[in-house]
Amino acid sequence: MEPEYAIIGGGIVGLSVAHGLLALGKRVAVYDEGDNGIRASRGNFGLIWVQGNGLNLPAYSLWTRRSAAAWRDFADEIEQQCNTRLNLKQEGGFRYCLNEDELADVAEQYRGLAAQTGDDYPFEVLGHNALRHEEPNIGPNVAGATLHHEDGHVNPLALLRSLATLVRQQGGQIFNSITIDKITRSNSKYALFSGKHELARAQHVVLCSGIGNRTLGPSLGFKASVRPQRGQVLITEKTAPLMRRPSDVIRQVDEGGVQIGASAEEVGTDDRDSLAITAQLAAEAQQLFPALSNVNIVRGWGALRIMSPDGLPIYQHSKTHPGAFFVTCHSGITLAAAHAKFLPLWIVGHSDAPDLECFSEDRFETHPN
Ligand SMILES: Cc1cc2nc3c(=O)[nH]c(=O)nc-3n(C[C@H](O)[C@H](O)[C@H](O)COP(=O)(O)OP(=O)(O)OC[C@H]3O[C@@H](n4cnc5c(N)ncnc54)[C@H](O)[C@@H]3O)c2cc1C
Repeated sequence: MEPEYAIIGGGIVGLSVAHGLLALGKRVAVYDEGDNGIRASRGNFGLIWVQGNGLNLPAYSLWTRRSAAAWRDFADEIEQQCNTRLNLKQEGGFRYCLNEDELADVAEQYRGLAAQTGDDYPFEVLGHNALRHEEPNIGPNVAGATLHHEDGHVNPLALLRSLATLVRQQGGQIFNSITIDKITRSNSKYALFSGKHELARAQHVVLCSGIGNRTLGPSLGFKASVRPQRGQVLITEKTAPLMRRPSDVIRQVDEGGVQIGASAEEVGTDDRDSLAITAQLAAEAQQLFPALSNVNIVRGWGALRIMSPDGLPIYQHSKTHPGAFFVTCHSGITLAAAHAKFLPLWIVGHSDAPDLECFSEDRFETHPN
């Protein structure tokens, strides 16, 4: 049967939205170009991260916090329905600072954000000794850290796999190894083309194809202002517990390896890793946790973030193509719960939909690429 919603892109964002639309009783099909595609969802850091988000737009802080607050139920539901483990831990996270000035500066910024968002921003500032109490293996040169109690982490590959399972269980269709090259509209329907072949028709189309949104977006009236940004990540061999909580640059994953990263490089669509960045990331990690000097790195990779000009999500209903939506963000793990539970209400035009006006691409003048 023809889907009501065709979702282009089967990464974390597309599958989260698909799951949410199916939960609202919609017929959904997801199309993904498969292993040759650029896929941030397979190369990320697995953080559910609140602290520091939205310093340039407090509404974004509230949106990530709303998602973080919904994450426990979201994970429980997935684990039950898919009989799996996502290894969600949401017991707070650190931002480490190597000097006192930096720590004071970060704390000041968070206090400012708290003041703009109702003073409810659960963070603490820990000097070196207090931090060592929480993280006994922390290095002597770390001045301290901010600890935000809503931060956490999850196994992102387990999340991706489970969402695909769940979407299928809910009756959604997922088509892999299919590149959508063109989308046209006639008789109030969208036709999806791969090469010259029309594959399917749907009343609505939701572009969740990450960097691929750049190619498909303009034909549906979107500015599609996204660019790739490379992040390189390392992982060590499995090791005894070394840290209790994640930070934005280092975490110990559920299987025991320590994940280190990530760089932020403007190199277009080149997703290779490099020795220079590997060395830099390894050196920084040893400053934080000196015991890592005895631990081998077993793997490193590069992956491409999907960045808008201001780093914030873009949620846009096309002004020229009714029923076409553009959805993208650079924190798809953090926002997965919001994308599954709240964003679909906005897509279907429900009266309980969140107000996402500030994430419209109207804030950008022109296509920046
Ligand atoms: C190094 C790194 C670390 C990160 N760390 C975190 C983190 O800790 N926490 C967090 O919240 N976020 C993190 N992110 C960001 C997060 O990974 C992304 O926000 C998220 O994966 C984006 O998901 P997506 O589905 O939009 O994009 P993608 O995963 O890129 O998926 C897009 C999909 O669309 C498909 N596609 C593209 N074009 C087409 C087409 N024409 N037809 C059909 N299919 C198409 C692709 O094959 C792909 O599977 C990190 C990213 C990187 C790179």
